[in-house]
Amino acid sequence: MSEVNIDRKHNQTEELGFDPDALAEKYLQERDKRLREDGNDQYLEVKGEFSYFVEDPYTDEKIERSPLEDEVEVIIVGGGFGGMLAAARLREAGIDDFRIIEKGGDFGGTWYWNRYPGASCDIESYVYFPLLEETGFVPKKKYTDAPETLEYCQILSKKFKLYESACFQTEVTSTEWDEETQRWIVHTNQNDRMRAKYIVHSNGPLNRPKLPAITGINKFKGHTFHTSRWDYEYTGGSSFGNLSRLKDKKVAVIGTGATAVQCVPHLGEAAEKLYVFQRTPSSIDIRNNKETDESWLTSQKPGWHNERRNNFESLLTGAPIKEDLVSDGWTEAFRLLFGSIRSKAPSKLTMFSWAVTSVASPEMYKLGFKQFMTNKAMAHMDIRNAMQMADYQKMEKVRSRADKVVQDKDTAESLKPYYNQFCKRPCFHDEYLQTFNLPSVELIDTDGKGLSEISEKGIIFEGKEYEVDCIIFATGFEVGTDYSRRAGYQIYGVDGVSVSEKWQEGLSTFHGMHSKGYPNCFFFGPAQSGFTATYTYSLDEQSIHLAYILKSAKEKGVSKIEATQEAENNWVQTIIEKARITADFQEKCTPGYYNNEGKINQKPQNNMYGGGPIEFFALMKKWRSKGNLEGLELTKQ
Ligand code: NDP
Repeated sequence: MSEVNIDRKHNQTEELGFDPDALAEKYLQERDKRLREDGNDQYLEVKGEFSYFVEDPYTDEKIERSPLEDEVEVIIVGGGFGGMLAAARLREAGIDDFRIIEKGGDFGGTWYWNRYPGASCDIESYVYFPLLEETGFVPKKKYTDAPETLEYCQILSKKFKLYESACFQTEVTSTEWDEETQRWIVHTNQNDRMRAKYIVHSNGPLNRPKLPAITGINKFKGHTFHTSRWDYEYTGGSSFGNLSRLKDKKVAVIGTGATAVQCVPHLGEAAEKLYVFQRTPSSIDIRNNKETDESWLTSQKPGWHNERRNNFESLLTGAPIKEDLVSDGWTEAFRLLFGSIRSKAPSKLTMFSWAVTSVASPEMYKLGFKQFMTNKAMAHMDIRNAMQMADYQKMEKVRSRADKVVQDKDTAESLKPYYNQFCKRPCFHDEYLQTFNLPSVELIDTDGKGLSEISEKGIIFEGKEYEVDCIIFATGFEVGTDYSRRAGYQIYGVDGVSVSEKWQEGLSTFHGMHSKGYPNCFFFGPAQSGFTATYTYSLDEQSIHLAYILKSAKEKGVSKIEATQEAENNWVQTIIEKARITADFQEKCTPGYYNNEGKINQKPQNNMYGGGPIEFFALMKKWRSKGNLEGLELTKQ
């Protein structure tokens, strides 16, 4: 390096407070430590001897009823926000003959299952709760706790009279298209054989708990459960903590993702000893929850809710937005970014305080960004590089928080995430890091290796056995595995072809919702569709889209709806092309479910719509406005 370059680099490091080249190198080293050949195969399917991990601990009474062999117009599989919203939007559209099949004992989906201590949503409640204007509900706080979300699910279901159309404790075992009657046949674990003209699969993207395939996982003689089936019988307490029965127990938690971040403070407070086994640290930013100002919320003008969630998602995808309505840790950087661009004398790199999200489209980012460019020279800046600098800055701030909060220097170092912020789900918590200052809490940093052995008495790592009474798996949910494995049932379409067969070489849908060979069948979820950080927003958009299609079909006298091969091929091509936008970002990320455990683009069609959700929603709205259900083959009665 020439002397001039050395000086320039020195000045840059001085100005930024870090050496970007050294960080880039460190990120790649950390990623490489975690890369594994087995990808998604490193996890066990929760079945057979492991099925107890998915039993329902929340219902006392088993529903006994006779098998159903009747017919309804629409069957919706899943009673989470997706299923509830689909049903609510169908009701609004005048379609009332539907049935919701749900394996849990009530509505709620994710929020029915995830009742672990500290469970909460860190997307602002005024954005996250769907249909807020319709229900008039006032969430207690900016970030809601899980029990309130579950309560809201019940309020929503009552408001739209969904209870009368629900079949709880009923698990779909398979669905098949019957060509002769042009109906879907739905089999369940209650021996039902229901029929429906239409079927909606809203089985949840984080529905199936996953277990790491650790040698000896079935040998452990102590107590064990997954966070999504919390055993309060064993721990005592509730979602709000106070796990009094752990006071004489040694507990191990495996995993340090968003779930562990929320339950670890309660476990640390209650257990005699807590070992937290970490493979990759999460990024832990400030949360700063506060009470709702009721008069503010109730004085909002009609249409405020949609405006707010649109504003939030637009900011996260880099669209040019003048005002940051939510104004929290998620949006802070975009606010600072655009604020400083509008100011008169933006200093070059330091004005960027955030980076692109994994769901953002750099192209959109660039487009929005250009509109704010007041300085011509800046138009030529390498935007990607600037965004990377902003991400480094943000993550340096997150890493320095660990230093400030955690007393033991080695532990603080282990808790620092070395990757771009949106490589993994960012976490916001004000007690997690502090928990590691408790003498009873120990972080076992596996330094990217993960655990390899469980014994009868506990966990073995690097030759040392950690004896515990209980092992809690905070190891998340299946994402990249076969669709029917995650759903828990198979879907057989025309000529008995299963979706597993059809999608063996990669997903193939039209708008993420339809697939040729599966008439009158609608898929909900992020695959080949728009994905939002506020997931309820995507589900609501999908519900509006579904209701529009079914209403139009009725008006047009159509009885069969199926994607054309051409429309499906074109959509798959769009997904593949758009996937290139985020591939580079994903490739540099530490492995996790956001980047298919590090196996990026092996099947680029297995992606979300890479143009970002706002662009996707606009595309769907435009499609609807044409009024001709383009790309769908319509058969009249
Ligand atoms: P995650 O998949 O995010 O985390 C699983 C954890 O288990 C990771 O830390 C993972 O490490 C670890 N792990 C897996 N295998 C091993 C192994 N062999 N040895 C050691 N550790 C292992 O699941 P979560 O349940 O935490 O979160 C799932 C999603 O749910 C979140 O991403 C978020 O979308 C949502 N959520 C949102 C919340 C909120 O609003 N605040 C709260 C909770 C969940 P590694 O990272 O190395 O893979």
